[in-house]
Amino acid sequence: MHGIITRGVGGLYGVRLPEKPDEEILCRARGIFRKMGLTPTVGDGVTIERATEEDRINAEREEDEASPGAGRSRMRYVKQKSADVDWVISALDERKSLLIRPPIANLDVLFAVLPCASPEPDLLTADKLTVIAENYGVEAVIVANKADLSPERARELTQIYETAGYRVFPLSAASGEGVDALLGYLEELAAGASRGDFKAAFAGASGAGKSTLLSALFPSLRLATGAVSRKTERGRHTTRHVELYPVRAGEGLFWLADTPGFSLLDFTRFDFFPSDELALSFREFEDCLGHCRYTKCTHLREEGCAVLEKLGKGLVAPSRHESYVRIYEEQRSVPEWKRRQNSEK
Ligand code: GDP
Ligand code: ZN
Repeated sequence: MHGIITRGVGGLYGVRLPEKPDEEILCRARGIFRKMGLTPTVGDGVTIERATEEDRINAEREEDEASPGAGRSRMRYVKQKSADVDWVISALDERKSLLIRPPIANLDVLFAVLPCASPEPDLLTADKLTVIAENYGVEAVIVANKADLSPERARELTQIYETAGYRVFPLSAASGEGVDALLGYLEELAAGASRGDFKAAFAGASGAGKSTLLSALFPSLRLATGAVSRKTERGRHTTRHVELYPVRAGEGLFWLADTPGFSLLDFTRFDFFPSDELALSFREFEDCLGHCRYTKCTHLREEGCAVLEKLGKGLVAPSRHESYVRIYEEQRSVPEWKRRQNSEK
């Protein structure tokens, strides 16, 4: 059977099948993955099988090895907890992408929820998110929320990100205006996913309106953690567990990633990118690269820079170039050895 890892449960994995998403199947991973240096991750597509006698024996041995000092009663408890698990993950699909912080495999779309006002949108953080998404092969989509509070700002955000090459949904989660367009987009993507494995995450700074938006999109959605009950969860969880929730969208189904206290910042720690590759992460710079006067052009302020020329023509938004400059400088302040070290974490 083919399913998706939807959460990690103390060394075990919760797996759900797209055709029966409401049922969670607890699985163990076969030892082979560890030997191959593979860590099954939330979002991975997996093949699961009934555990064999050999699986059970291996599981018991692993547990004995993992807790050598443990007393008999604890040992029995642990065995009951996991050696008796009926299912094993026998194969992992090839990954399309892997985000490291938070750890999610195969995320298709990352929605960045930006408020048009109250609070003011943080464009630098949003642009960092698009850079991360480009680097990990995840599609970023901009949601300009609270359009009711500032229609001008909504138009401006739409202009900035459409010019950059992104889908933008200006809307008001509170009034519901524009929410249908986003819902239609999600339904389309969910229906198009061949294996019922379309995965999306919503990221937004606190106050951006993420919870309001998710309730407007999916009134019956009740997340155990994160978005909906975020306010009660905050502070209690320090580790970032991601969980995927099955959500029905039209005829289809998609998987919504959520974690306690999800914010834009979870996706924007990237002191591990080589700075000379940064320009490649700005979609709207792409047709300029290779056309600057200097081959080593940094696109910050050089004469004859094709990016700056495009900026001058209004085809690159000033805020996007400003973010580029800021990120470039931030990255340059991190020494190469440290970036390498960070990328291995
Ligand atoms: P979160 O922290 O991102 O989950 O944000 P919330 O969903 O809790 O929303 C923060 C505040 O903004 C709440 O008071 C919401 O009622 C309000 N809000 C959310 N969406 C909108 C909107 O589209 N328009 C207006 N005017 N207020 C909104
Ligand atoms: Zn240049």
